[in-house]
Amino acid sequence: MNYFPLFADLTGRPVLVVGGGSVAARKVGLLLKANAQVRIVARQLNEELSELERQNKVLWIAKEFNAEQMRTVMLVIAATNDEVLNHRIFYLAESQHKLVNVVDDQPHCSFIFPSIIDRNPIQIAISSGGKAPVLARLLREKLEALLPQYLGKIAEISGKWRDQVKAKLASVTERRRFWEKMFSGRFASLVKNQQEVQAEEELAEQLENNYQGGFVSLVGAGPGDAGLLTLNGLQEIQQADVVLYDALVSGEILSLIRRDAERIFVGKRANGRSVAQEETNQLLLTLAQQGKRVVRLKGGDPFVFGRGGEELEVLAQHQIPFSVVPGITAGIGATAYAGIPLTHRDYAQSAIFVTGHRKADASDMEWQTLARSNQTLVIYMGTLKAQVIAERLQQYGRAANTPVAIISQGTQLTQKTAIGTLANLAELAEKAETPALIVVGEVVKLHEQLAWFGEEKQRQKQPHFTLESLTISQVA
Ligand code: SAH
Repeated sequence: MNYFPLFADLTGRPVLVVGGGSVAARKVGLLLKANAQVRIVARQLNEELSELERQNKVLWIAKEFNAEQMRTVMLVIAATNDEVLNHRIFYLAESQHKLVNVVDDQPHCSFIFPSIIDRNPIQIAISSGGKAPVLARLLREKLEALLPQYLGKIAEISGKWRDQVKAKLASVTERRRFWEKMFSGRFASLVKNQQEVQAEEELAEQLENNYQGGFVSLVGAGPGDAGLLTLNGLQEIQQADVVLYDALVSGEILSLIRRDAERIFVGKRANGRSVAQEETNQLLLTLAQQGKRVVRLKGGDPFVFGRGGEELEVLAQHQIPFSVVPGITAGIGATAYAGIPLTHRDYAQSAIFVTGHRKADASDMEWQTLARSNQTLVIYMGTLKAQVIAERLQQYGRAANTPVAIISQGTQLTQKTAIGTLANLAELAEKAETPALIVVGEVVKLHEQLAWFGEEKQRQKQPHFTLESLTISQVA
């Protein structure tokens, strides 16, 4: 360990900053956040620092640096554009045993500024020890995205309750369990949903009743590409005790589940039999009643042809608290990846999402509405009924040469798009791999020009692409 991480309380403590430009100002901003008493030595202050000086937020103690100025400070920061001066400050500080940082000059630093993720009062500091600042920054961005903004609020409320919890729960283990449960349970969800009063009520109640009570989150995983999972979805699956998932959830997304969480597959088994919906509903209920944090992970969006509603009804009947994290539905995700806009001023003013799989026969569908022109029809679970669908649409007025697309395994690396017309839809559907989405309408024509994802299309486009990038680089 080249650098020892520690969190210093700078409140009211004097820090010397030598330099009055933007580099100095950046560091001064950070120091002021920590309520340090900032003393500046500089011939001139830039606008930002002048303003701080006018507001008495910093002290401009001298124009020229001398060794005496660092005698009473804890930290010294050299941020002038004079390298010789910066180095002199470094050696003087070293000889006085002061911690010193010459900005952007790692060999002349006895302390460094880490990348900071601020969820006050939670602070996370990252450093690569000066070896790979860009990597540290990337890590910071990743963590920023992962760590919810409400984390600070949670810590703040917990701080308020700490003594009460200590008084009620005698052992450290008991308290640890209690807090773990709070941070991954309903309390956390309420804080996240800005219901702080209810969150504190929940905390009080859990403390009183010895913290039982599970929670279910119904999470949409999107159509496959893990990048399309929402941040809320990611946070939920990383907090879960147990995750129930089905066949539509991609392996890429499953790999993001917290490693020691239990995983239960509730989709279609190899023998073709599905786990009955009632069985899944019951399982969700039982797990939640055991006090677990349960995630029900579904492909696409849980409320779009996903029976999410049915599962929640059962939970609601038993007063199990739950939340819903929407996902990108296949109709949005797969079409986007296939370069098929759902609406377009020239071709379609509306889009309809419909399921081809009905409990009854396809004959009871609203064909009149579905066959309207100037609209895009997106059919989920439609490949088995493609023949009937194509016939009916034509019978109700859609032309036989209306363009159609079948997008298989949309947004995944294996995505394939088959293009045809209503006349040969059934034929295409027979060959399509599942899961597959049928798109009917003039917008499908745009696929040829707008397809951007998937190996096949990229290869086909390559010569064109090279030419284009050549032109661009020439212009540049
Ligand atoms: N809740 C899901 C839909 C479940 S119904 C959602 O919002 O996307 C299952 C149907 O969705 C499949 O039969 C198929 O028509 C469609 N589907 C789901 N994922 C898909 C994908 N990656 N590519 C193409 N179609 C998909």
